[in-house]
Amino acid sequence: MIESTLPEPRMVEITLNRTAVTAHADATILDVCRAQDLDVPTMCFLETLSPFNSCRLCVVEVAGSRTLVPACSRIVESGMEISTDSERITDARRTLYEFYASTVDLSLADAETKNWMSKYDVDPDRFGRYEPHRAVKIQDDLYIRDYDKCVMCYRCVAACGPDAQNTFAIDVAGRGLSSTISTEYDVTLPDSACVYCGNCIGVCPTGALMFKSEYDMREADTWDEGRQSITTTICSFCGVGCNLELHVQDNRVVKVTSPMDHDVTNGHLCIKGRFGYGYLQEEK
Ligand code: SF4
Ligand code: SF4
Repeated sequence: MIESTLPEPRMVEITLNRTAVTAHADATILDVCRAQDLDVPTMCFLETLSPFNSCRLCVVEVAGSRTLVPACSRIVESGMEISTDSERITDARRTLYEFYASTVDLSLADAETKNWMSKYDVDPDRFGRYEPHRAVKIQDDLYIRDYDKCVMCYRCVAACGPDAQNTFAIDVAGRGLSSTISTEYDVTLPDSACVYCGNCIGVCPTGALMFKSEYDMREADTWDEGRQSITTTICSFCGVGCNLELHVQDNRVVKVTSPMDHDVTNGHLCIKGRFGYGYLQEEK
């Protein structure tokens, strides 16, 4: 019998909501919470990207720590006493959602965000609800950017950069409330390094990045997810074999996504898989 030479994973003992838990020494607090079926809200965090700590919605209490601690990026330590359900945490998360509602249009935010806002009894008018007023940026026929809906979660920057595409076409420009996601020197997308993989759209939690096809249908009031089906298939353009999810309404493909839990693509695609479905249907 051949004995394994792999080191045993190092484990630590912690306390989570007054219960003793054994956890991998390299796990984050969020990893441990999810392994224990303890739900924690997130907005900037996505399993397929590195934690960025921008939204602060996942904060928890750690005994001995003066401030609340972001669960998505803090690694557990032996003896750590963590609380995820105190009044202080609920107040912090509710206030954060209320700040978001006063600075961003959350009307198309993902279902997770809407569920948590309802759970925490968030009052979107507490600090004055945000009124959309910026022009939607439309520079091509593939996708749009709506700054009114951008929560500056940096997911698109991470997906365009080191976590998926490695193209680095976009980054953060400006400071404070004036900061925006921008191309280099704010050139138009077709003049930038963008290769139109659409991976930024795939990770955006608020609808700030959207297929032009979806945007046009929403404008025409014909977008209806209740009438859409999603068919998973294999991309036919090359031999990699990426999974595609074809969103179909009225017998037409209206957008293409990729499953996040696919261990080859992790939800990411290239321009052909993401946008190359025109040959399936006549132009309208
Ligand atoms: S489409 Fe791809 S290359 Fe272009 S900005 Fe988005 S992630 Fe970057
Ligand atoms: S465009 Fe979307 S993914 Fe990018 S920072 Fe804004 S909200 Fe996040």
